[in-house]
Amino acid sequence: MVNFANFFVEEKDNIYYYALSKTEFLLVNKFTGAWAVILGRSITFDKVQELVTAFDKLNYLKTKSFEIKRENFFNTKKGKSLTIIFPNCNLRCKYCYIKNSFSTNNFKVSPLKLLLFCKEFNFNKITFHGGEPLLYFDWIKKFVGLAEELNISFDYVIQTNATLFTPEIVEFFKEHNFSVGISLDGPRFVHDANRVFPDGSGSFDKVMRAVKLLKDHHVPFEVLVTMTDLFFEHSKEIITFLKKNNLNYSFNVPFLTKNFGGGEDLLSHLETFLIEYTDHYGFDSAIMNLHGFSSFFTPNVDPNNPDKAVLSDNCGAGINSLAVYSDGSLSFCPLLLTYPKLHFSSNTNFKRELLELRKPLDDRLLTLINPSYTHPFLPLHKNLCPARALIYSKNFNDDYLVPLYENLFLHFLKNIGHFYEDVHFVHKLSFQGLTIYALFK
Ligand code: SF4
Repeated sequence: MVNFANFFVEEKDNIYYYALSKTEFLLVNKFTGAWAVILGRSITFDKVQELVTAFDKLNYLKTKSFEIKRENFFNTKKGKSLTIIFPNCNLRCKYCYIKNSFSTNNFKVSPLKLLLFCKEFNFNKITFHGGEPLLYFDWIKKFVGLAEELNISFDYVIQTNATLFTPEIVEFFKEHNFSVGISLDGPRFVHDANRVFPDGSGSFDKVMRAVKLLKDHHVPFEVLVTMTDLFFEHSKEIITFLKKNNLNYSFNVPFLTKNFGGGEDLLSHLETFLIEYTDHYGFDSAIMNLHGFSSFFTPNVDPNNPDKAVLSDNCGAGINSLAVYSDGSLSFCPLLLTYPKLHFSSNTNFKRELLELRKPLDDRLLTLINPSYTHPFLPLHKNLCPARALIYSKNFNDDYLVPLYENLFLHFLKNIGHFYEDVHFVHKLSFQGLTIYALFK
């Protein structure tokens, strides 16, 4: 893997300068991660610096100080999202990381109790997740019906294995404007290799039937494709299958790499795939939706007010997102499997415990913006995932996807003339005969 440090030239006035080649300079503000790329023939560091001084439109690179915005669950202004984790599933996917904890228990929290909690703390988005949420369709219907009666509105999302669909269920999604995500790994031989019922039979036919129902009822949906060893072996056939069936898709990047039998190799397979994919299809929504990758394109700075940068943590776990389990326990994020949980309530203990639990994640933000970075490119990674980091290395600062995303971003920068129209935040400007790609106009 190539590392950005290889291109590092100088740090001056809080801007890191990187010579990507003899004709390309990358500039990154060390606090905000705001960046620009300057292209020109035989361009020099002096010339680039001159440009930064003279060209107003690059002011957003000049942030010299910043304020840290510390939000918490009780004072956040952002909308809140609750993920409801149902305890059982009708499939036994070979790569499922929670299948050993499935239980036939009911979802013990009543819809009314959960609704009152959501109302008290201003949740505006509900995601039904599992296990398989449609095993609990009656509970879901009750929740949605009661919310309507009580005049509480939510954006609803469901992530399902799509094996239990009926016309009634699909009409229900339509009526209540659900965002529907279904799991489909590709053509039959790929999908059925992993996504199986307890008797070992594949679920492909059922999922394709659900696809047809959704299309017939005009319900928009997205396909979530889990990347496994088999995915990398057959990625071309899989993408062709998805395109041929006119499916919107995003990738489920392997979370516990060792569970996929690919170990460390999986990351290099993933990198090769992402580079080849972007060469072919550009930086489309599937790539921009890779968890955390789009943060490269969203610096924490107002271009009109660069001196007043306000940095906040982009991981909302325990601030504006929570997950609730069937026994009523709450966790910050469904991925933080081993992180301590708490019970929902509105008493002072709940408040104290929630803030206590969030503290280690808050401290992560301070590490990220500590000017003595151990990694000169760190400001660009504003969305390090603590769950991924904790599980892989037990260290908040180590996210195993960071080097891979760095290389993908480098690939973008080195081909920026070709790719920039894919990413609507990137603008092409020119000044003194140089071409500049900037994050803002
Ligand atoms: S559908 Fe999801 S929850 Fe069910 S076994 Fe497969 S991966 Fe696990």
